[in-house]
Amino acid sequence: MDDLRDLYQSTILDHNKSPRNFGVPADSNRDAEGYNPLCGDELHVYLRVDAAGRIDDIGFEGSGCAISRASASLMTEYVKNQSREEVDRVFDAFHDLVTKAPKEGATPESLGKLAVFSGVREFPMRVKCATLAWHTLRAALDQTDQTAVTE
Ligand code: ZN
Repeated sequence: MDDLRDLYQSTILDHNKSPRNFGVPADSNRDAEGYNPLCGDELHVYLRVDAAGRIDDIGFEGSGCAISRASASLMTEYVKNQSREEVDRVFDAFHDLVTKAPKEGATPESLGKLAVFSGVREFPMRVKCATLAWHTLRAALDQTDQTAVTE
Protein backbone atom coordinates (compact mmCIF):
# COMPACT_ATOMS: atom_id res chain seq x y z
CA MET A 1 0.00 0.00 0.00
CA ASP A 2 2.89 2.35 0.70
CA ASP A 3 4.28 1.60 -2.76
CA LEU A 4 0.91 2.46 -4.27
CA ARG A 5 0.82 5.65 -2.25
CA ASP A 6 4.27 6.60 -3.54
CA LEU A 7 3.19 5.89 -7.09
CA TYR A 8 0.09 8.04 -6.68
CA GLN A 9 2.14 10.82 -5.14
CA SER A 10 4.72 10.78 -7.92
CA THR A 11 1.99 10.81 -10.59
CA ILE A 12 0.41 13.89 -8.99
CA LEU A 13 3.78 15.63 -8.68
CA ASP A 14 4.62 14.79 -12.29
CA HIS A 15 1.36 16.19 -13.64
CA ASN A 16 1.74 19.30 -11.48
CA LYS A 17 5.23 19.90 -12.80
CA SER A 18 4.49 19.03 -16.42
CA PRO A 19 0.76 19.46 -16.95
CA ARG A 20 -0.60 17.79 -20.07
CA ASN A 21 -2.78 19.72 -22.50
CA PHE A 22 -1.78 23.03 -20.93
CA GLY A 23 -2.94 25.84 -23.22
CA VAL A 24 -5.80 26.59 -25.56
CA PRO A 25 -6.59 23.96 -28.22
CA ALA A 26 -6.93 25.13 -31.84
CA ASP A 27 -10.48 26.13 -32.80
CA SER A 28 -11.70 25.89 -29.23
CA ASN A 29 -15.45 26.51 -29.25
CA ARG A 30 -16.39 26.32 -25.57
CA ASP A 31 -14.72 27.39 -22.36
CA ALA A 32 -15.39 28.18 -18.73
CA GLU A 33 -13.52 29.49 -15.74
CA GLY A 34 -13.46 27.86 -12.35
CA TYR A 35 -12.48 29.18 -8.96
CA ASN A 36 -11.98 27.45 -5.64
CA PRO A 37 -12.05 30.16 -2.96
CA LEU A 38 -10.99 27.73 -0.23
CA CYS A 39 -7.54 27.34 -1.74
CA GLY A 40 -7.31 30.10 -4.37
CA ASP A 41 -7.16 27.72 -7.33
CA GLU A 42 -8.14 29.26 -10.67
CA LEU A 43 -8.66 27.27 -13.85
CA HIS A 44 -9.78 28.06 -17.36
CA VAL A 45 -10.88 25.02 -19.36
CA TYR A 46 -11.18 25.15 -23.16
CA LEU A 47 -12.93 22.58 -25.33
CA ARG A 48 -13.39 21.81 -28.96
CA VAL A 49 -16.68 19.93 -29.09
CA ASP A 50 -17.60 18.20 -32.34
CA ALA A 51 -21.00 18.09 -34.02
CA ALA A 52 -21.87 14.86 -32.18
CA GLY A 53 -21.21 16.53 -28.81
CA ARG A 54 -17.94 14.71 -28.13
CA ILE A 55 -14.87 16.40 -26.69
CA ASP A 56 -12.60 16.54 -29.70
CA ASP A 57 -9.85 18.44 -27.91
CA ILE A 58 -9.36 19.99 -24.49
CA GLY A 59 -6.85 22.22 -22.78
CA PHE A 60 -6.56 24.31 -19.66
CA GLU A 61 -4.75 27.26 -18.18
CA GLY A 62 -4.61 28.70 -14.71
CA SER A 63 -2.77 28.62 -11.47
CA GLY A 64 -3.36 26.70 -8.30
CA CYS A 65 -2.06 24.09 -5.95
CA ALA A 66 -0.47 20.81 -7.04
CA ILE A 67 -3.70 18.85 -6.57
CA SER A 68 -5.78 21.21 -8.70
CA ARG A 69 -3.22 21.33 -11.53
CA ALA A 70 -2.59 17.59 -11.52
CA SER A 71 -6.33 16.93 -11.45
CA ALA A 72 -6.92 19.22 -14.44
CA SER A 73 -4.02 17.62 -16.32
CA LEU A 74 -5.18 14.05 -15.70
CA MET A 75 -8.77 15.01 -16.49
CA THR A 76 -7.82 16.42 -19.90
CA GLU A 77 -6.13 13.14 -20.76
CA TYR A 78 -9.10 11.12 -19.54
CA VAL A 79 -12.05 12.87 -21.17
CA LYS A 80 -10.83 13.28 -24.73
CA ASN A 81 -13.38 11.80 -27.15
CA GLN A 82 -15.97 11.43 -24.43
CA SER A 83 -19.57 12.58 -24.63
CA ARG A 84 -21.38 14.69 -22.06
CA GLU A 85 -23.05 11.55 -20.66
CA GLU A 86 -19.69 9.83 -20.23
CA VAL A 87 -18.22 12.90 -18.54
CA ASP A 88 -21.15 12.95 -16.10
CA ARG A 89 -20.62 9.29 -15.25
CA VAL A 90 -16.89 9.78 -14.65
CA PHE A 91 -17.56 12.91 -12.60
CA ASP A 92 -19.89 10.96 -10.30
CA ALA A 93 -17.40 8.11 -9.90
CA PHE A 94 -14.54 10.55 -9.32
CA HIS A 95 -16.56 12.50 -6.77
CA ASP A 96 -17.29 9.26 -4.90
CA LEU A 97 -13.60 8.36 -5.04
CA VAL A 98 -12.49 11.56 -3.31
CA THR A 99 -15.35 11.85 -0.82
CA LYS A 100 -16.47 8.38 0.22
CA ALA A 101 -14.79 5.48 1.95
CA PRO A 102 -13.91 2.75 -0.53
CA LYS A 103 -16.54 0.07 -0.70
CA GLU A 104 -15.56 -3.34 0.51
CA GLY A 105 -13.59 -5.04 -2.24
CA ALA A 106 -14.30 -2.31 -4.75
CA THR A 107 -11.44 -0.86 -6.76
CA PRO A 108 -11.52 2.37 -8.71
CA GLU A 109 -10.11 0.55 -11.74
CA SER A 110 -12.66 2.10 -14.05
CA LEU A 111 -11.14 5.47 -13.30
CA GLY A 112 -7.68 4.50 -14.52
CA LYS A 113 -5.06 7.04 -13.57
CA LEU A 114 -7.67 9.18 -11.84
CA ALA A 115 -7.41 6.68 -8.97
CA VAL A 116 -4.29 8.57 -7.85
CA PHE A 117 -6.64 11.01 -6.12
CA SER A 118 -8.12 8.38 -3.79
CA GLY A 119 -5.91 9.71 -0.97
CA VAL A 120 -7.69 13.05 -1.15
CA ARG A 121 -10.61 11.65 0.84
CA GLU A 122 -8.38 11.80 3.91
CA PHE A 123 -8.06 15.56 3.42
CA PRO A 124 -11.56 17.05 3.09
CA MET A 125 -10.10 20.52 2.53
CA ARG A 126 -8.51 19.28 -0.68
CA VAL A 127 -11.61 17.68 -2.22
CA LYS A 128 -12.51 20.93 -3.95
CA CYS A 129 -9.00 21.26 -5.33
CA ALA A 130 -9.42 17.83 -6.94
CA THR A 131 -12.94 18.44 -8.28
CA LEU A 132 -12.52 22.04 -9.51
CA ALA A 133 -11.41 20.97 -13.00
CA TRP A 134 -14.47 18.73 -13.30
CA HIS A 135 -16.90 21.44 -12.22
CA THR A 136 -15.26 23.76 -14.72
CA LEU A 137 -15.41 21.16 -17.49
CA ARG A 138 -19.13 20.70 -16.93
CA ALA A 139 -19.68 24.47 -16.97
CA ALA A 140 -17.83 24.62 -20.31
CA LEU A 141 -19.97 21.78 -21.70
CA ASP A 142 -23.06 23.66 -20.56
CA GLN A 143 -21.59 26.78 -22.14
CA THR A 144 -22.70 28.84 -19.21
CA ASP A 145 -20.79 32.09 -19.10
CA GLN A 146 -20.53 31.99 -15.35
CA THR A 147 -17.52 31.14 -13.29
CA ALA A 148 -17.85 27.66 -11.79
CA VAL A 149 -17.39 27.91 -8.07
CA THR A 150 -16.83 24.83 -5.96
CA GLU A 151 -19.04 26.13 -3.14
ZN1 ZN B 1 -6.05 23.77 -4.19
